[in-house]
Amino acid sequence: MRGASTFAAMEQEDKLKKVISHAKEYGFVFPSSEIYDGLGAVYDYGQLGSELKKNIKEYWWKSMVQMNENIVGIDSAIFMHPTTWKASGHVDAFNDPLIDNKDSKKRYRADVLVEDHIEKIRGKIAKEVKKAAKRFGDSFDAEMFQQTNPRVKGYLDKIEVIEARMKRCMEEEDLEDFKQLIIDEDIADPVGGSRNWTDVRQFNLMFSTEMGSTAEGANKIYLRPETAQGIFVNYLNVQKTGRMKLPFGIAQIGKAFRNEIVARQFIFRMREFEQMEMQFFVKPGTEMEWYEHWKQERINWHKSLGIPESEYRFHDHLKMAHYANAAADIEFNFPMGFKELEGIHSRTDFDLKQHEEHSGKKLQYFDPETNESYVPYVVETSIGLDRMFLAMLSYAYQEEKLEDGSERTVLRLPVKLAPYKVAVLPLLKKDGLPEKAREILGGLKHDFMCQYDEKDAIGRRYRRQDAIGTPFAVTVDHQTLEDNTVTIRERDSMQQDRVKIEAVEGIIRDRLKG
Ligand code: ATP
Repeated sequence: MRGASTFAAMEQEDKLKKVISHAKEYGFVFPSSEIYDGLGAVYDYGQLGSELKKNIKEYWWKSMVQMNENIVGIDSAIFMHPTTWKASGHVDAFNDPLIDNKDSKKRYRADVLVEDHIEKIRGKIAKEVKKAAKRFGDSFDAEMFQQTNPRVKGYLDKIEVIEARMKRCMEEEDLEDFKQLIIDEDIADPVGGSRNWTDVRQFNLMFSTEMGSTAEGANKIYLRPETAQGIFVNYLNVQKTGRMKLPFGIAQIGKAFRNEIVARQFIFRMREFEQMEMQFFVKPGTEMEWYEHWKQERINWHKSLGIPESEYRFHDHLKMAHYANAAADIEFNFPMGFKELEGIHSRTDFDLKQHEEHSGKKLQYFDPETNESYVPYVVETSIGLDRMFLAMLSYAYQEEKLEDGSERTVLRLPVKLAPYKVAVLPLLKKDGLPEKAREILGGLKHDFMCQYDEKDAIGRRYRRQDAIGTPFAVTVDHQTLEDNTVTIRERDSMQQDRVKIEAVEGIIRDRLKG
């Protein structure tokens, strides 16, 4: 039954819908407060989702903190002194340009509308290349074709002009021309098709609340829109108490909150989400070296999960955030197309200098090699935990037609991330097989997340484990009672081998290491 093929025809959009319903059906992700019809762009992780999420966090933490002597982790509070956000620039500049369609009443981020429009033009280029590749056969040189074909060149020039104009609009906050760009490019509402747009307005994404019990004594505070500032304000605490020498990093995993304008893409864009961030403090002048270093390290981390390189690409930022002098995204091939999964930013000394200025406290590093004090520069890596979750889930989700004509849905999750590593299954619910299976389970559950299942025919139980991504199923049959062997079935190949019970642990461990 090996050699399964995926349903090639599964449309991308269709795939997102399938992933969402699969996530709900098997207890990965539920809409928040669903009995009250949910809350926009807020989600809860269920029994399997919380395991997958925990495994992603652990894998990140291990590679950042455990594997690097010069990186330590912290866990700072979500609430911070309100001046933090004045200093960081979020009060004044954490805005997105929003635009409404007057007919559909749908709200959009103006920059996302334009980016999607550019993506469509890129799609046209890809079509031309594909057509030409067919025509020219083996001798086809795609790069040369793109440089010389007049139609493709026209598309590329158009993209360049649009990108430059949008960059200017955003940098100079020219909202009038932003709207004009949308009109000039004839961009229609993706939902209703109308071109009846409002003006573009700026919208601050921070949630605020009040701290203190009386109205007069209450202070307006914000729910942090990024975890990074908790690291910056603790820079000196950690540097001094940890006796850290430059270059060194501080890592943190935690919740962040943004009142996102458009919230229609499941857990890709949430109003409450989690970030895994690391700020790496370096000597000024060395930041570009470290920026390149961390770009490489982070893409290597993604690749180490065994997902093909073609699913990732770098995207260098057109518009730098107010704090950065270089920035790139690692984009992932989500069901909605290539979108940002992680950002790597060279943040200069902007944040620490701002906090020095607003707090009146020095946030400097005394360099014992040069006998100088200075404010370090910072290179940041910032990945959304929920986006990583969606990347893994949507990549892993596959519908397969098997050689015998049957079908299965399988989550080909990286073994390290799978919620359960092994299922222990008695072939029958009698003859002492459940007792033996529970005995084996008892030996494995100290080391691995295990499932026990004795309900339904064995084939159905295998399908259930495939659907939740369990990499191994151990089946206990009558032969087990005679010679202490079991069959171990591997999720992806569906191959079954008979092995000694004592060998099971080693087999799982080897795959986890790999
Ligand atoms: P986008 O352009 O998609 O809004 P961003 O550039 O504002 O993202 P950053 O501020 O760089 O994002 O945040 C770092 C990471 O946090 C992003 O790469 C992403 O993975 C994650 N992230 C940001 N906003 C959200 C959100 N609303 N929901 C889920 N994850 C998010």
